[in-house]
Amino acid sequence: MAKCRGCGKEIIWIKTATGKAMPCDPEPVTYWQTAGGKRRIVTPNGEVIACELDGSPDRATGIGYIPHWATCPAAGRFHKGGSHGMRP
Ligand SMILES: [Zn+2]
Repeated sequence: MAKCRGCGKEIIWIKTATGKAMPCDPEPVTYWQTAGGKRRIVTPNGEVIACELDGSPDRATGIGYIPHWATCPAAGRFHKGGSHGMRP
């Protein structure tokens, strides 16, 4: 399995619909698709969807993968100029 160069955690690469490979956390999570969702999820077939990660279990949209940059403690290295204050 691949590892993140920033934090050393295991990641998986999912090829998205645009042809770009996206690093994601290897644990699939349940997501709830919402038009204005603040989270992003990558489905196993490579769609990136705006969603929330909690909701009523019987209304869940499906299972997907969280983009690793959303959870990576070293994400500041991926996005130069980000506003999250994680740069060294
Ligand atoms: Zn990382």
